[in-house]
Amino acid sequence: MSSVMTVKEAMEARSAKRSLSERMRASAIFGIPRADAATATEQEGAKSEMFLDIARTTLPIEFQGREVRLEAHAYEDDTASYQAMAVVHRNPNASTDSDLVPLVRVHSGCVTGDIFHSLRCDCYAQLQLSLEKIIESDLGMIIYLPHHEGRGIGLVNKIKAYAAQDRGLDTVDANLSIGAPIDARDYELPAKILKDLGFEKIRLMSNNPLKIEAMKRFDIEVIEQVRTVTQPSEHNERYLSTKRDRMAHKL
Ligand SMILES: [Zn+2]
Repeated sequence: MSSVMTVKEAMEARSAKRSLSERMRASAIFGIPRADAATATEQEGAKSEMFLDIARTTLPIEFQGREVRLEAHAYEDDTASYQAMAVVHRNPNASTDSDLVPLVRVHSGCVTGDIFHSLRCDCYAQLQLSLEKIIESDLGMIIYLPHHEGRGIGLVNKIKAYAAQDRGLDTVDANLSIGAPIDARDYELPAKILKDLGFEKIRLMSNNPLKIEAMKRFDIEVIEQVRTVTQPSEHNERYLSTKRDRMAHKL
């Protein structure tokens, strides 16, 4: 075997390596090994045709000093980095024959806010408030979208935009100054997840009119918009007022 690679071989090797690293990055999001799509299809039947892979389990969580059991559903779409998690809370004492309309939060992943409780945005407060509301409800769910980091522009661009804000720009102009869109989020995946779980009619927890529109576009009927207003801090006051004044959020 020759040790010299042709250009074609080198390109093929590079592309195989890239797709492997992309797949590894995707599975690293939830720290779980990637199952073979064919196995998942056998396990899940027809429903998984909408997705590349699905996994489900029960997730006990600690919330405000008590244990709460949630259903956890993990999804992978046909783009390797496109993974999402849905947690569902069902009140075991709720009547089963009623047509319960689930209370739903579609949450954009935010490493700085959700994990480190950054005060530059209100993501952590929104997530906690959503958890509280779904746990109080007979049927509630949160769809968590890691790839929506920084309104879909990614972690590095988000931090670049923060640095631009440090120089005095608001959140909209900061994104524009680094050549990033103001909002690059896409809602096809959460809509597919809602359909997979049989929730085509929802009460949506959001202040963002674009999210309501996006859900409608993918045939999810939003029968009620439940506003989630959190307490502003000195660090996120400007972020929240920009959302209200320049992005039509109902705050
Ligand atoms: Zn955030």
